[in-house]
Parts: sequence; C-alpha cells; structure tokens
Amino acid sequence: MQYFIEVILPLALQKSFTYEVSEAEFKYINIGMRVAIPFGKSKIFTGLVIDKHHVLPELYKPKEIHQILDDIPIVNTFQIEHWKWIANYYMCTIGEVFKSALPSSYILESETIVSIKISDNFIDKLSLADDEYLIVEALHSQSSITLNEISKILGKKTIFPVINKLLDKGFLILQEEISETYKPKVAKYVKIKDEFLIEDKLVELLKSLSKAKKQHELILKYFQLNAYEKKPILIKKLVDFSGVSTSIVKSLIDKEVFEEYCLNEDRVIFEKDNSSSFDLSDFQLKAFESIKLNEKKHDVTLLHGVTASGKTEIYIKLIEDYIKADKQVLFLLPEIALTTQLVQRLTAYFGNQVSVFHSKYTNNERVEVWNNVLINSDKARVVIGVRSALFLPFSNLGLIVIDEEHEQTFKQQDPAPRYHARDAAIVLAKQHNAKVLLGSATPSLESYYNVKIGKYGLVELKERFGNVVLPDIELVDIKDKYFRKKMNGHFSDVLLNKIQETLSLGEQVILFQNRRGFSPFVECMTCGHVPHCPSCDVSLTYYKYKNQLRCHYCSYTISNPTHCHSCQSVDLSTKGFGTEQIELELKSIFPDNTIGRMDQDTTRGKFGYEKIIDSFKNREYDILVGTQMLAKGLDFDNVTLVGILNADNLLNQPNFRAYERAFQMMIQVAGRAGRKEKKGNVIIQTYNPYHNTIQQVLSNDYASMYNEQIYDRQNFKYPPFFRLIRLTLKHKDFERLKEGSLWMYNVLVQHLQIPVLGPEEPAISRIRNQYIRTIIIKIPSNANLGKTKNTIQSTLKSFESIAQYRSIKVSINVDYY
Ligand code: ADP
Ligand code: ZN
Ligand code: ZN
Repeated sequence: MQYFIEVILPLALQKSFTYEVSEAEFKYINIGMRVAIPFGKSKIFTGLVIDKHHVLPELYKPKEIHQILDDIPIVNTFQIEHWKWIANYYMCTIGEVFKSALPSSYILESETIVSIKISDNFIDKLSLADDEYLIVEALHSQSSITLNEISKILGKKTIFPVINKLLDKGFLILQEEISETYKPKVAKYVKIKDEFLIEDKLVELLKSLSKAKKQHELILKYFQLNAYEKKPILIKKLVDFSGVSTSIVKSLIDKEVFEEYCLNEDRVIFEKDNSSSFDLSDFQLKAFESIKLNEKKHDVTLLHGVTASGKTEIYIKLIEDYIKADKQVLFLLPEIALTTQLVQRLTAYFGNQVSVFHSKYTNNERVEVWNNVLINSDKARVVIGVRSALFLPFSNLGLIVIDEEHEQTFKQQDPAPRYHARDAAIVLAKQHNAKVLLGSATPSLESYYNVKIGKYGLVELKERFGNVVLPDIELVDIKDKYFRKKMNGHFSDVLLNKIQETLSLGEQVILFQNRRGFSPFVECMTCGHVPHCPSCDVSLTYYKYKNQLRCHYCSYTISNPTHCHSCQSVDLSTKGFGTEQIELELKSIFPDNTIGRMDQDTTRGKFGYEKIIDSFKNREYDILVGTQMLAKGLDFDNVTLVGILNADNLLNQPNFRAYERAFQMMIQVAGRAGRKEKKGNVIIQTYNPYHNTIQQVLSNDYASMYNEQIYDRQNFKYPPFFRLIRLTLKHKDFERLKEGSLWMYNVLVQHLQIPVLGPEEPAISRIRNQYIRTIIIKIPSNANLGKTKNTIQSTLKSFESIAQYRSIKVSINVDYY
C-alpha cells in the first residue's frame, strides 16, 4: 500500500498537491499539521496537510516530503472548511487564504530572510545548542541570511526546528519585521519621595503648599489612590483620579516632592480592574434581554443603538454569559485605532481572559495568541481583533461581536483574499453554531435590509446612556459665509465662536476634515499646470511642514517647486485643504491652545494611535484635528464640540455608496460630542445645506436615509439587490490593456445573460505606472451565482491562454466596496 498526503501551499494555486510519505509518517501525520516540502526547482515551502489517502495521482509522480514540522495540528478542520468557503466565494485560491491566515513565522520557506533581533551581546552563547550557535555566529558577520544559506551553513536540510527555537527565544526576526524597531512599551509612574512618608515631613510639606491649592489637593489624592490601589501608580491614573492636570504633577516632580519612574509594561498581560464592574441601565437591560430573545430565533442580530448608548457595555455582559458557558468569543473591530480603548475596557472587566490580535503586533505575539486559541486556553476566552482575527484556530466559538459593522475597512482590498470580514464571520459562526451580534449607530444598508426581510433580528437602543441627549447639529452655509466675508481661513464665524466658547469652559474640540496633507493640489496661476505624480494619475499633495509634494498612491516625493515646471512662472497657489492646513490655521487663531492631529501621517509606528488617543484623553490637547480615523467609535468624555469643515467632499465621491457613507461618517463624527453629562454641539460647514443627506444627518433620520438609498439601489441595480463582481485589469502598456479589457468584456457579455459594465477607466486610471481598467458584473439575486462564477473563471482561463494578454494582471473583487 502507498501512503499519500494532500498539501496546500502558501501560493496562488487553486489545487492541493499530493506527496508521498512512509507508513510511519502517515500514522504520525494528522490533518492540520505542517510539512516542509520541495516544490518547483529547489525551493522548500511550508505546506499544510488537508487530507490523507492512498490514491496515486494520475498526472505526476508524487515527491516525498522533507520533514514534518508539527507534533500536533496547528490548524483545525473548521478553519480548512472556512478557508475553502472564502476561496470559493471570493474567487481566489485556497493557497492565498492559507498564506494570509497564518502568522508569517508559521510559513517559512527557503528564501525567507532572517536577521538577528537583539544585540548579540545579550545572547547567552553558552545556552545555545550547536546549531543555534552556528546561526547566531553567521549573523554576527552578516546582517541577514536566507533559510537556504542556513541550510548550507548547518550542512542539513532540516533547519525549521532550529529556526523556530531561535524565533521562540526572540533572537531572530523575519524579513517583514525588519523595519519594525522593537520597543518595549514603557509606562510612566509616579511616587512620593520617601522622606515625605514620615508624618512630620508630610505635614510640613502640606503646610508649605497651602497656597498652591491644586498641588496640595494632588498630594492628598495621591495618598488616597495609594491606599486603595496598593501598587505602582501610573501618572495617567493619578491625573484621572485627582482631576488635576498633568502640569501639576510635573511641577511637583520639579519640586522633588514626586519622583517619576518608568516600568516596562508587558502588553500581553492584562490586569482585572475591580472597579470596572457596572450595572446596565434600564434601557440597556431591555436591549440585552431582547438580544437574548432574538438569539433564539435568529443566528444574526443587529443592535442598532445611537452613539454613546452604551453598546459596549451590552457586549460585555453578553460576552460574560458566553464565557460562563465555556465558549470562545471573537470581537471584531474595523480598525486598529479602535482597539486601544476597547482593550482597556474589556481587560479591565475580564482581565487576563482577553487576547488581542492585529497586524501591528509582532510575529511572536501573534503566534502566542494563535496557540492560546488553538488549545482553547483561558487566556483567549475573548479575542479582540481586526478582520484577520477571523482566521484564528477557534474550536468552540459561541459568539462573534462585530462592532461598527457598517465600516468599509471590514472589506479587504488587496491582496487576495478580498473578503468581507462581517460576511465571512457570519459563515464562520454558522459552522460553530455560534451567534453573531452586529452593532452600529448607522447600520449598513445591507444589514438593515436583512433585518427588513426577516433574516436578521433587530434590537434598537434610542437613548444615550445616563440621560445624555444627542448633540445639537447646526448647519453653516459656507457659500453665504464667503459671500459675506465671514470666513477666517476655512472657519466660519459660527464655528470659531463655538470653538472659543468650548475652550473657555475647559472642554475639548474635535475637527474633522477628510483629507490629509496641507492641500491636495498645487496650481500655477499663470498657465493652470498642476504637478502630477509621474507614475500615477493623481495630483501631488502639498505638505507644508516638510515643504514637499507627495503622491498618496506610491509615496513619490519631490521638494516643493519654486516655479512652474511648465511655464516657469513663480505664481503658484494651493487648492483645497487637508488636516495639516487646518492644524496650522488653528495654531495661528488659537496660539495659546494645544492642537493635535490624527491622520495616516501622524499615526505610523506601532503605538502611533495609542499615543494620540491617550494624549487627547489625558487632555494634553485642547483640539484634535483628524480624518475619518476619529469618526470611529472613540469615547472621549470631555469633548463637547465637533466641527465638520467641509461636508461636500464626503458627498461628492464617485461611488454608489457615497451618500450612505457620508451619512454614516457625519453621524459617527457627530457622535463623539457630548458623550458624558454635558450636551454636545456639532457644526457642519457645507455648500449644500439642503442636500437630502445633510438634512437626514441634521434630523438624525436613519430611516429616511435608508428608504431613499435602498430605493436607488433597487432602481440602479446595486446591492443588496444585485451582487457585484469587479474585475480590475492592469498593465503598463495602455494599448494592450485597452485591447485586452475589451476582449474580456466582449466574451463576458457573450456568455453571461446579466448586466456587464465597462471596460471603464476608473477615476484614478494609472497607479505606479500601471494603467487600470475595470469591468463590473451585476448578478441579480435570482441568477445562479455558482454558474456565473464558473463562467467568469473560464473566461479568465481563456484570457490567460492568449499570448499577448498573459502579462495583463487581472484581479477579482467579489462584493467590492
Ligand atoms: P457606544 O458604544 O454605544 O457608542 P459606549 O459603550 O462607548 O457607547 O458608552 C458611552 C459611555 O457611557 C461610555 O463612556 C461608557 O463607559 C458609559 N456607559 C455606558 N453604559 C454604562 C453603564 N451601564 N454603566 C456605566 N457607564 C456606562
Ligand atoms: Zn505655469
Ligand atoms: Zn504616485
């Protein structure tokens, strides 16, 4: 008898491959284990076993495996099933799903590059095994080496176990992590100098501070907190607890009353905070019970609750029930920026039962979470993550919470698999017999439609927590304001007055502008020339701080020109505005206030978001300017004013979802105002105050927005009535691309009896020197989806077999956003 295994590779290949193993290996190997296998000329890959059998393949002679990499399966059958569904539904290969599902150190290949992570002075060489020592030594003289080279150095092929040991010890680092400089998270603590622990001294000190009331107060609070915490005191905590500002803490440090010190904070250890217990309000309790009832009838329930209605607390109570029933819970968020606050809230409540999983975590941290989920450990009862957390090895899922379910970032754009995490999560839940709770103040049309047709349950929460009312929204017609000369830069008099008033009350302000940089164009006032990126079909964005022009698609940068490149005129001007310009204008209008900015340019690096969010929360900034990043679920208790500088560029997007999104964005940003106690205010500046969408925001009328948009969707054949598949074709030769896309279009039209649109030049028709064309296929809900996809696949196959089209890259996006 012959023994075979079926293996998938982390490559864009549809098929699995058959390898031969010995009888002993066959007995040892289980589905879900990894094997190192030769593939192609001389490369070694990590493959995953998805089946075992005795059937000799007809078309090729199976090769033998190199080695078995695992003692126990690291992937379970739920996952393999789920990956197959993703590959099938989103029209990609299972290899691509496999590759994006596993932490990268789990799929080493012979050309993976490793380098040393910490200064090798810190490596205790005596503790290393011989093989390990040889690798560390080699990396002493060479900054990085491939696994192939390591194989030569060790004189053997079996190198994965050694590499894995060194990775576990934290000595090595893999290619994609090289740019990540390792910084342990350091937290600042404060303690009173020992001398003041003597009562007389303390009394004396307090006396001497009798005029400095706040400092006096702070010291008393310090002792209170100390008595109650009995552990090192975070400066942040002291500030929160005492209600005085950080500057008072600083002055006591300067006076040498307090001493500041730092401790490394292990990110993956969370402490339970006993003060975090709470009771649900009557409204929340009703919603909670209604969710429970809905779960009896529906697999998916939508919690439609206004901003600051306390959805998070409802999630927490629900999660608690599932944990008590010994189930795993997955909590999906649309964006890494949001995890900070949620992790704080969940870990305070659940302590060490919470794990976090996202791409800013290092490989080792991700592997650790993977393993904890795999063994169903207590440390991973609740996993908080962005969309990729969906791929973890859950075996006992009870509940998936998807917060801010309307967010478009749940859809992966590039590379494949281009999946929608909400939809893929619903499928995953079904496999586990688990329930799904979708939460949003502004549900997606798709989800709300599913409620209407009875597929999902609905629970509504119309009140904010603690009798706080929704903010007042005021519209400002900027056309009129410009006409009356009531604008100062991009600020209307109304907005400026309100900012002034808010600041004078010691409250904070959020300002929203959906563009980063100083301005999106530079224009020559003599000839009208606008500098464009040489490789992309976009104008270059002007950055004033750096005095540069930059492309947002390929990072091409030039220094700001002093004269027009077309006519030499020096009369250059900027057009449009971004967050950087708003920040600068604010600095000159409010020179005494501190201003922060949160956008893609200021949040790079592992703790980019945390720093800004924490600083704002700690009131180190009076005003925070930002892009849509700050529209999402953040909870700041001292913000009472939100300003939207220009609502129009939200409305004028070339996308059938533009109005839905503009509504969601504005309601969400508005929802950051007045979340605790005081009523908030929102000011929206616009050229179109009578636009339907703006009026719907003004009256917070989700139902009207829904009815209007769903009507259009049906009329114009869009989701949820039609499924959309978009093909994107790219090539650096314009003519060839044009010809190829036309061919593709014609063949599709011939074979499909449904609407096919295109081939279209998208709004940005060239990126990184590649021209782009798109074809959109609209599939009515009564059409046979499987058959349509097969037709598309076979058209693609024919396309690839035509020599002059082979080099045109085609990507498929199912349910594109
Ligand atoms: P949402 O997620 O609906 O926007 P949050 O869950 O952030 O709202 O709640 C808004 C604010 O009200 C938060 O600061 C939260 O801590 C507070 N809050 C909500 N429910 C409770 C409760 N039951 N007890 C105490 N505080 C609550
Ligand atoms: Zn010019
Ligand atoms: Zn570019």
